[in-house]
Amino acid sequence: MTHSGSRPGSGKEFTRVNRTGVYPRVNRAGVYAGKRGNPDGPGGPGGPGTLRGPAGVGKGGDAGVPVGVLALQGDYALHAAALGALDRSVREVRTSHDLEGLSGLILPGGESTTMLKVMEGTDMEAALTRFAGAGGALFGTCAGIILLARGVTGPAQRSLGVLDVDVNRNGYGRQVDSFETELAWTEDSHPVRGVFIRAPRITRVGDGVRVLSERDGEPVLVRAGRILAATFHPELTDDRRLHRYFVETVMEAPAPAPAEAT
Ligand code: GLN
Repeated sequence: MTHSGSRPGSGKEFTRVNRTGVYPRVNRAGVYAGKRGNPDGPGGPGGPGTLRGPAGVGKGGDAGVPVGVLALQGDYALHAAALGALDRSVREVRTSHDLEGLSGLILPGGESTTMLKVMEGTDMEAALTRFAGAGGALFGTCAGIILLARGVTGPAQRSLGVLDVDVNRNGYGRQVDSFETELAWTEDSHPVRGVFIRAPRITRVGDGVRVLSERDGEPVLVRAGRILAATFHPELTDDRRLHRYFVETVMEAPAPAPAEAT
C-alpha cells in the first residue's frame, strides 16, 4: 500500500507519513518519544514535535501510559499538545491496532463526515465500539461527540452510538455563527471558555448521562461513566482543566463490567 502523503478528504498535506501511517517521531509502540528531532517537523510548532510539557504537572501524570488521540482528521494535534502539557504521553490512533493497550482515547473536533469516510472499509468503527464496550474511556469534542452520539440529525449520518445523547450537527447554523462564551461547569467554581465552531446541539440526553455544563439551558458538556463529551473545543484554549479532568477523573473512574470480550 502506498501513501501519497495526504489523507483522503482531510485537505491537508501530511509530510513524511510512513508505511503504517504514523509520524516518524512515534516509536514502534506508538508512543511519542517526546521533544526530539526537528521541532518544525510534522505538525509544525505546537504540533506533535512539542508534545511534552513541563514535567511533574498534575497528579497521576503517568507519562508512560499513553492516551490515544484519534488522528484521522481534525485538530488532533492540539489535543496531543494539551495532553503533552499535562505530561502525558500520546499515541495517535489511525488503525484499530493503535488502540491496543490504551485505556483512554480522545476524539477531536473537525469534520465528522470526513472522519467516517476515512474509516469506511476499515475495522476502525467496530474497534471503537468494542473499545467503548470494554470500558475504554472516551472524550469527544465537537465532531467527536457527533461520532459518539446515539442519534445524529442535521444532516443525519451514522455514529458509534456509545453515548446516549442525540445531536443536531451544525445546530447553531453555519461557520459565521461560531462563537465563544464563558461556561459554568459542575467540577470547578471557575468557568471554562467554550469555543463553539459549527458546533452540534445536544437535543436529547439519556438517563445515566450527567450534564456538567449548559449554555442557555442546553447541555454542552456531558458525562456518562467513562465517556466525556463537549460540543465545544477545549483544545483551542490554553486551559487544560478539561483534559486534566479527563485523564485524572474520567479515565481513573472504575470501568463497568465489560459488555463484550475484545
Ligand atoms: N459540524 C461539524 C461536523 O459535523 C463539527 C464541527 C467541529 O468539530 N468544529 O462534524
